[in-house]
Amino acid sequence: KYVLGIETSCDETAVAIVSSDKEIIAHKILSQIEEHAVYGGVVPEIAARSHITHLDSLVENCLSSADLALQDMNAIAATTGPGLIGGLMVGMMTAKAMAQSSGLPFIAVNHLAAHALTPRLTDPDGSKTAFPYLMLLMSGGHCQILEVLDVDDFKRLGTTLDDATGEAFDKTAKLLGLGYPGGPQVEQAALKGDKTRFPLPQPMKGKAGFDFSFSGLKTAVRREAEKCVAEHGYLREIEINDLCACFQDTMAKCLMDRLGRAMKDYTSRHSKGGRRLIIAGGVAANTYLRNALESLACEHNFTLSAPPLALCTDNGAMIAWAGMERFLKTPEINEINQPARPRWPLDQKAEPRVGRGK
Ligand code: ATP
Ligand code: MG
Ligand code: FE
Repeated sequence: KYVLGIETSCDETAVAIVSSDKEIIAHKILSQIEEHAVYGGVVPEIAARSHITHLDSLVENCLSSADLALQDMNAIAATTGPGLIGGLMVGMMTAKAMAQSSGLPFIAVNHLAAHALTPRLTDPDGSKTAFPYLMLLMSGGHCQILEVLDVDDFKRLGTTLDDATGEAFDKTAKLLGLGYPGGPQVEQAALKGDKTRFPLPQPMKGKAGFDFSFSGLKTAVRREAEKCVAEHGYLREIEINDLCACFQDTMAKCLMDRLGRAMKDYTSRHSKGGRRLIIAGGVAANTYLRNALESLACEHNFTLSAPPLALCTDNGAMIAWAGMERFLKTPEINEINQPARPRWPLDQKAEPRVGRGK
């Protein structure tokens, strides 16, 4: 079976075809980073226009590189939320038109569910990613701890009260004068830095529950940076590197504190069965955080799985795969009447509750 998936929720135009035996048959991705970099962040209007310009040829490229026709697909999937409404509309309407014109079912994919299910695509025998599992989803717009019970059954245990994980990286990078998107740049600079130099606060440490908070951490970095500027007249590279290293290390500690609590809670509720932890989302591409979470998982007797680095940030394969999972579970699925949903919490089923914004 084949599913073609389209991702246009933010600043990547991406299309992929995956098979039911977990092969990525075709995979095209066009990042708009350069178009947005001058503004220091994603501009929704520019993003939507760029998706319109490039999506059709990416679809054609995918099909021709796989030597397949639209009629060879079993379903067409697209991200229908959460995300920027303009981009969502472009991807969703393109996918719906393709589905309608070729008599295929359309599958409305939740972008966060797709991040959360991606590790199953790259787990050959599925043993490390069988349901249920505990999940840390850390991306540009989210930071959540979830219990994943099935392809469409998510229980949210905790979320961020302010900034998302990726957002904290991006804002920190910006205030240190590094480019956009900031995550990879902070990680690179941190490699050369001293993570013990600046004492930074660890918001929420030891608090009850599983929620996160990162805005205090970012503000503390700003204060330290201002002190360095006051002392030397400008922000020297050595201080930038040290601040990045301290920020990243504190971020790791924050995640470990909250996730450690969630693991204990999860273990007490799932005394039988495997202990599986899965991390996903763009920030899961960070090697320092991956290593920190690996040792935490080990300490709590959990196995850790994460997508390969290239499938952590937004891509089409994750959407196609999420569509495939739902298609395999419910072969008669067709969500052609689903609207785009800029806000779409993961623990809500696909059917929108009429009249409710969130
Ligand atoms: P969401 O999935 O919440 O809608 P998004 O799709 O924009 O948001 P992703 O594509 O999953 O987010 O991830 C992008 C984020 O990941 C950016 O904030 C980026 O800075 C961050 N990121 C990417 N690589 C790294 C890295 N190596 N270290 C830290 N952060 C990273
Ligand atoms: Mg992006
Ligand atoms: Fe994403």
